[in-house]
Amino acid sequence: MKKLICYTVLLSASVLLLQGCNYENERTETNPHYETPKLVIGIMVDQMRHDYIYRYWDKYGDDGIKRLVNEGFSFDNARFDYMPTFTGPGHASVYTGTTPTVHGIIGNSWYLRDEDRTTYVTGDPDVSGVGTDSDEGKMSPRWLLSSTITDELMMHTNMRSKVVGMALKDRGSILPAGHIGDAYWFDYGNAKMISSTFYMDELPGWVEEFNARDLPAQYVSEAWETLLPIEEYIESIEDDNPYEGTFNGQDRPVFPHDLPAYAEISGNGIVANTPFGDKYTFEFLYAAIEGEQLGRNEITDFAAVSFSSPDHIGHRYGPPSIEVQDTYLRFDREIARLLNYIDEEFGKENVLVFLTSDHGAGHNARYLEDLQVPTGRFLRNDIADALSSRMMEIYGFDPVQSLRAIEVYLDHEMIRNNGARLENVQKDVANFLIEQEGVAGALTADALRYNSFTEAMHRNAQRGYNASRSGDVMYWLDPQWFTSNQTTGTTHGSPYSYDTRAPLIWYGYDISPGRSHTPVFISDIASTLANFLNIPFTSGNTGNPMNDYIYQR
Ligand SMILES: [Zn+2]
Repeated sequence: MKKLICYTVLLSASVLLLQGCNYENERTETNPHYETPKLVIGIMVDQMRHDYIYRYWDKYGDDGIKRLVNEGFSFDNARFDYMPTFTGPGHASVYTGTTPTVHGIIGNSWYLRDEDRTTYVTGDPDVSGVGTDSDEGKMSPRWLLSSTITDELMMHTNMRSKVVGMALKDRGSILPAGHIGDAYWFDYGNAKMISSTFYMDELPGWVEEFNARDLPAQYVSEAWETLLPIEEYIESIEDDNPYEGTFNGQDRPVFPHDLPAYAEISGNGIVANTPFGDKYTFEFLYAAIEGEQLGRNEITDFAAVSFSSPDHIGHRYGPPSIEVQDTYLRFDREIARLLNYIDEEFGKENVLVFLTSDHGAGHNARYLEDLQVPTGRFLRNDIADALSSRMMEIYGFDPVQSLRAIEVYLDHEMIRNNGARLENVQKDVANFLIEQEGVAGALTADALRYNSFTEAMHRNAQRGYNASRSGDVMYWLDPQWFTSNQTTGTTHGSPYSYDTRAPLIWYGYDISPGRSHTPVFISDIASTLANFLNIPFTSGNTGNPMNDYIYQR
């Protein structure tokens, strides 16, 4: 018996040895980069629509976005599967691998029913700014309910990894950096990079040095001219048009934009509203890589960078503008510089890059009207008044606390005290909303809690619904309808394709070049990263890894 066991063990050992040898051979012959990457660079481009890859393709250089697409793996049907499609939920969903239902980031701000006030997504009165006295420093990830993939990396390596989140927008930096990494963002009032006491007591030397360079002052010291001769921007509408907003102090939304004059009025923070806000963010990325020595050893580090300026610019000018095109042509040149930098400093095979966005954007309503494409305006204040009247008619009291972009909050205590049933009031509110022109659908909290929707807008509403934070009724409008009468620029937030379809490109490390039209969700990114890094999924993960498509074979 004993002999047999020994023999079995020996046999097992030799089999294992044999397997091990085969395994080694496979790795060296077909998969030389099986070890985890030294550095992950997660790139989010705020408000980047998927079509910007192809709309401007002919004007991109060969070694920027074209190189990312040609040498990387591109998913052309990557989507957000929830609403609202705003910045906070977008960044949270990419880095937690789930949707607002689980990670709790249901908007850029939301209503706190019990306190009758609104909270900002990363607002935290219990922390102070570092590098600033401004309230722009009172920020942390306190509202984020799930771990992030960056948190998991830190815990997995027992804090030997370094994670740095960076963006102009606080929420574009803080949500990706998670609860353990460091985050830096832009103090718009004072035009410098800051952090908060949630992360550190003082700014590291490399951030102080970066701020001392005062790049915003340099970048707004000249007018914003188009990168190429303006007549070459045939992919965009004419420069002078009625659909675009202006800088404070500017008469017409046309080039050249006189940045020194507008900086005089609004401060150097206006750099954020120009493509030079991207340049500034790239410079901060290089400073972070050098300053923190990211990617210099075998322990994976993570630079989570988000470019906020495309969103500011998109909101002001809208998708078909020359300003948006010029922003992406300049971004393309900066991507080329980054890919060269990766080649020279680390080697492409040692760095895993992904590029995506946090939401898209619709078209300007007047632009659509002029082209006879359906659009409309749902004026919330008027609707809220009418809803309150309807409630008075039915119940003799008005329980409506807040009618927001996608939801209605009701006063539960008032409903209880008046002897009404919450479920009935919710249904009456939903029925009222559905009767309004431009409302495509409405679901009560009850319906969202006790059903499981798998398709289209119902699914998107449900995955954006968080039981403890969301309102009593969620609703959505017809395509390209807006909840304001803003006449210039554009916005986002809807469950429709123009807001939910995003670019998703993987590049470097183990990625084989390719393109897929298979639908994937943005919440699948985090678990894919987990597989590349051999680390656990996030605590709230609901996404599915897409590694099998994109591994080098
Ligand atoms: Zn955004």
